[in-house]
Amino acid sequence: MNIWVYIDHFKGAPLLASWEALGLAKRLGNATAVLLGHPMEEAVQAAFEFGADAVLLADDPALADYRAEAFASTLSAAASAQTPDLLLFPTTSRGREIAAMTAADLNAGLLVDVTALEIAAGRVVATRPVYGGKALVRETCAVKPALVTLRGRAFPKPEQQIGRSGPVTRIEVRAEAQTTVEGYSTGEGVSLTDAGVIVSGGRGLTVFPGLDEKSAAARGFALLDELAAVLNGAVGASRAVVDAGHAPYAQQVGQTGKLVSPDLYIACGISGAIQHLAGMRTAKVIVAINTDAEAPIFQVARYGVVGDLYQIVPALTAALKKRLGRQ
Ligand SMILES: Cc1cc2nc3c(=O)[nH]c(=O)nc-3n(C[C@H](O)[C@H](O)[C@H](O)COP(=O)(O)OP(=O)(O)OC[C@H]3O[C@@H](n4cnc5c(N)ncnc54)[C@H](O)[C@@H]3O)c2cc1C
Repeated sequence: MNIWVYIDHFKGAPLLASWEALGLAKRLGNATAVLLGHPMEEAVQAAFEFGADAVLLADDPALADYRAEAFASTLSAAASAQTPDLLLFPTTSRGREIAAMTAADLNAGLLVDVTALEIAAGRVVATRPVYGGKALVRETCAVKPALVTLRGRAFPKPEQQIGRSGPVTRIEVRAEAQTTVEGYSTGEGVSLTDAGVIVSGGRGLTVFPGLDEKSAAARGFALLDELAAVLNGAVGASRAVVDAGHAPYAQQVGQTGKLVSPDLYIACGISGAIQHLAGMRTAKVIVAINTDAEAPIFQVARYGVVGDLYQIVPALTAALKKRLGRQ
């Protein structure tokens, strides 16, 4: 099976989820990495080292900034000409966007947010969560090519083989786009979708005696930052605090935010609404800290602490610092 993997990257630095997709492609068939951008030399080398059998490359200054129209047009034109059987994309914001546009261009089938994938009788059979993660559905794609977006951290990252290389084929650049990029505002710290540990805060952070909502949220998130730093993790948020302006949208976990599958998810002051669970219930271990013993988050949590996060989180951070020998 001829499988293409779209390597999502920011300014030439590929996202971990791209290598997870490449690892899956290698297990299923012949893996071709598709790299669009500028400059891409280091990403091309890394693609071979993470297992690509071949690279399709559009390295052009016109693609220096990601713009969905240009990237999707370039990918669609190459896929129309070379007819791969399967195209894999990481479930990142860009991955989802370019997958949808490419599927429309190719009049092809698209399966999104897939957590398991196999080939049966020459067809792509994908498993993905539905109904906010309450059920899993198995779907077969009846047309070729099949396009699939893969949930981050649902597939193992392949071992890097330093110095490995292979053939690079250039593809035609289609740079026409209605948009230009004016600039970036980049977040710092560990990326939410790549993070092994996520400490998330909800509306429970916004109430603290003697403080207004904004000051309470700032104080609460400072505690979460400290806990996340000890665990080398990232900080997430529920939509309630994002909508209230206490956290950026980039930190939102859930149906309309990021879909995450960390090894450990610590939910602090989050009730566990279905839309929040949709983004994190595939986490391997969920810990919930909530004053309300009846909060729905406890139904999905492996470990639950009924208590005030303003007391529990600092105590947890102090205990972990001691245990892990960090100051
Ligand atoms: C179409 C749609 C899409 C949506 N998408 C998303 C999404 O992507 N992500 C998302 O998160 N939501 C989403 N929502 C919103 C969702 O329905 C909930 O409103 C939201 O998740 C609630 O956030 P919360 O848990 O922080 O707040 P609340 O539901 O208000 O819960 C706050 C919790 O904090 C606890 N608490 C209070 N004080 C403390 C304390 N001191 N210590 C510990 N616990 C405390 C309370 O007991 C409570 O359980 C969406 C809604 C819709 C309609």
